[in-house]
Amino acid sequence: MPDSAPGASAPKETVPVGVDPTRASIARVYDAFLNGKDNYEIDRQVMYGVLKVAPEARDLATENRNFLIRACRFIAAETGIDQYLDCGSGLPTAENTHQVVQRFNPEATVVYVDNDPVVLAHGRALLEEDERSHLISADIFKPHEVIEHELVQKTIDFTRPVALLQCGTLHHYNGPRAAPAEIMREYISLLPSGSYVVISHFLDPEDEHSEVARKMEDVFVHSPMGSGTFRTSTELAELFDGLELVPPGLTRCADWWPDGPHLKPLSQAQYCTAGAVGRKP
Ligand code: SAM
Repeated sequence: MPDSAPGASAPKETVPVGVDPTRASIARVYDAFLNGKDNYEIDRQVMYGVLKVAPEARDLATENRNFLIRACRFIAAETGIDQYLDCGSGLPTAENTHQVVQRFNPEATVVYVDNDPVVLAHGRALLEEDERSHLISADIFKPHEVIEHELVQKTIDFTRPVALLQCGTLHHYNGPRAAPAEIMREYISLLPSGSYVVISHFLDPEDEHSEVARKMEDVFVHSPMGSGTFRTSTELAELFDGLELVPPGLTRCADWWPDGPHLKPLSQAQYCTAGAVGRKP
């Protein structure tokens, strides 16, 4: 349940210096969808707008987050990879990438990348105690800026396989529709052979659920957050160009190695987010 109804007076909030509480932020809207506490009224208003056209829209966020966690568990348990680059990390949540993978390998290193001042403040506080996890400020849509960042170069050994995450991020790129595929091609070209890439993204399922996808897109794009493109599975497949997809391939997040059988029919929003894990040969 939302913690305040639309139009209700906002709860007392402390706004960090340098943060504009009159502009919605992707990270804080996502936090609101996940029932987090690090969001402002302007962020919740974006969520309420989406819930109006798609009452089950919270599933977009929870399926995305659960997919990320399962993909990280898989990589940590099955591939031996011990270095992770998590692009667009988001606000700290219940299970963060370093916590998931360090359960399998306490030596695993994680570099988080984000550009949201609230994420940077909260993330750095969370990571203070963990010398194997770091958070840098960079533009995740500029692969060279990320990979060549001093801390990334110091922390990650690019002669060994890396896991690169772009979960719930590329649909926030505001520019030419085909650009995210180019961005991913550039990232993939910079990764060593044997690396894994995890991507999740809003999906236009091109079936009876397309209408709700288009409605959610319309609200997101015209909201104070200003982004959220739903791409088709053909467009999403292009993000994995040059990679071998781990079974079951590109699929709805809800269907990527779920924790158990689905006993209930999927919600409309569950049809509208997809992901895959690929390996660079
Ligand atoms: N990856 C997390 C997940 O899947 O649970 C969080 C996804 S959240 C929807 C997207 C994150 O990407 C936000 O924290 C946002 O600040 C970040 N982001 C968006 N555009 C960015 C950019 N150009 N550079 C760095 N971070 C960006």
